[in-house]
Amino acid sequence: MSDNQTTTDVVVLGMGPGGEDVAGNLAAAGVSVVGIEAELVGGECPYWGCIPSKMMIRAAHLLAEARRIPGVAGSSTVTPDWAPVAERIRAEATDNWDDTVAVDRFTGKGGTFVRGRGRLVSANIVEVDGHQYSASRAVVIATGTTASIPPIPGLADTPYWTNREAIQTAELPRSIIVLGGGAIGAELTQVYARFGVDTTIVEALDRLLPLEEPEAGDLLAEVLRSEGVNVVTGTGATQVSYDDAFHVTLADGRELVAEQLLVATGRRVDLDRIGADAIGVDPKARALPVDEHLQVTDGVWAVGDVTGRGAFTHVAMYQSKIVTAAILGEPHTPADYAALPRVTFTDPEVGSIGLGAAAAREAGIDVLVGRAEVPSTARGWLHKTGNEGFIQLVADRRRGVLVGATSMGPNGGEVLGMLTLAVHARTPIEELRSMISAYPTFHRGIEDALGQLA
Ligand SMILES: Cc1cc2nc3c(=O)[nH]c(=O)nc-3n(C[C@H](O)[C@H](O)[C@H](O)COP(=O)(O)OP(=O)(O)OC[C@H]3O[C@@H](n4cnc5c(N)ncnc54)[C@H](O)[C@@H]3O)c2cc1C
Repeated sequence: MSDNQTTTDVVVLGMGPGGEDVAGNLAAAGVSVVGIEAELVGGECPYWGCIPSKMMIRAAHLLAEARRIPGVAGSSTVTPDWAPVAERIRAEATDNWDDTVAVDRFTGKGGTFVRGRGRLVSANIVEVDGHQYSASRAVVIATGTTASIPPIPGLADTPYWTNREAIQTAELPRSIIVLGGGAIGAELTQVYARFGVDTTIVEALDRLLPLEEPEAGDLLAEVLRSEGVNVVTGTGATQVSYDDAFHVTLADGRELVAEQLLVATGRRVDLDRIGADAIGVDPKARALPVDEHLQVTDGVWAVGDVTGRGAFTHVAMYQSKIVTAAILGEPHTPADYAALPRVTFTDPEVGSIGLGAAAAREAGIDVLVGRAEVPSTARGWLHKTGNEGFIQLVADRRRGVLVGATSMGPNGGEVLGMLTLAVHARTPIEELRSMISAYPTFHRGIEDALGQLA
C-alpha cells in the first residue's frame, strides 16, 4: 500500500441494496472489501425509494379505508395530515437521511468504508478523489440509477421534483402534476389524491402502467378517476414553464397548471460517470452488459439497477447472492429472470410475473388465458367497497404451465406469491388445479381463473 494506493481483495462501487449486500456478505466471509459510496449506504431504496414511499402508501391506504366505512361499518370523518407521514419517514425510515447504522453494519463485518465518488481506471482499479483502490480478486459495480429527466423544452429551468424531493418534503402542495404513469408515478399520484392534493397524472402512452396487462392500467385509471384524479393518457408534455406555478403544455394543446410538478418518467443508468469505457463498455449504453453470472468482463461483476435487468430491490438482492458465490468460487445457479415478480403498490395493488398475454403470443407461445374478477369471488364480494381487481393467468397450452400472471386487487402483491411459485417451479396446471385453497381467501380466485383457462 502506498500513499495514494490501497490494495484489497474486492472493491464494491456503490453501496445501495445490491452493493451493500455483496460487500457485507464478502466481508463476513473473511474477504478484504473496500466499499465506496458517494451518498448514503443503503442507496435509493431506504432513503428515497421503496421504504419511505411505502410508508406514504400505508398512510394513504388508511385514509381510504376510513373513507370506506360509511355503508359498511358506520360513519367516518377523515382529516388527512401529512406531518406524521413526513416525521415517520424522517425518523423511522431514514434516520434523518443518516447512514451511520448502515456504515457500522458494514465495517462491523470487517469491511473498509470509503465515502466518495469512484471512477473506474481499469478492470481492477477504482479511483476516489485521487486515491486508487486496487482489487486483486474482483470489482463489483453497483451504482444504480437516478431519475431520468426527459428533454421537454423548459423543464430543466423549473424547480420540479423527482422522487428525492417527493420523499423528503415536509409539506404537500395544494396541487400537483405527475409526469409518468409507471409504478412510481401511479403510486405517488394515489397518495397525493388521498391526502387531498388536486392531482393530475400524465402518461404519454395509451394507458397507465404501460408495462402491465392493458386491463390493469385501464382499471387503475378508473379507480384513480373515482378518487378525483385527473388521468391524462395518450398525450405527452411538450413544454414546461414556471412562474409562481408550473404550466405544462400537452401535445394535444391543453395546458395544465399546478403548484408542483413531479417527474416520474423512469430511471437512468449513467455509465459515463463511472468511467465504463475503462472496462471496454460503451459509456452511452443503457445498462452494463452482464452474463448469467453477472460478470461484465474478467474480474468485474455488476449487480442491481445498473445491469438493466429490472429496477427492483429484489433483483439487486437476487443478483447479489449470485455475485457473492461467484467471487467466493462457490457453486451457484445462473441468473434467470423468467419468474421475476413486480408489484405496483397502488390500491388495488398490481402484482405481475412473467409474460403478459400479448408478449407471450409474440414469443410464439400457444397461449391460453384464464381470468377471474375479484368482485365475483367470494372474498371480493364480501369485501365490497375497494374490491376492484382481477386475476389473469397466461398459460402455454403445449407445455401445460403458466408463463405469466397478473393479480390485481386488495393484497394483489401477496396473492402473486403463489403465482410466482407456479411460474418459477413450472408447476403443471393440472397440479395447480388439484390444490385446495382456503375459503374465502383472495388467492382462492386463482382457482376460478384456472377454471377459465381456454
Ligand atoms: C420512489 C421509488 C420507489 C421504489 N419502490 C420500490 C419497491 O417498492 N420495490 C422494489 O423492489 N424497488 C423499488 N424501487 C427501486 C429500488 O429502489 C431500486 O431498484 C434499488 O434501490 C436498486 O438498488 P441498487 O443497489 O442497484 O442501486 P441504488 O439503490 O441506486 O444504489 C446505488 C448507490 O450507488 C451510489 N453510487 C453511484 N455512483 C457512484 C459512484 N461513482 N461512486 C460511489 N457511489 C456511487 C449511489 O449514491 C447509490 O447509493 C423504487 C425506487 C423509487 C425511486
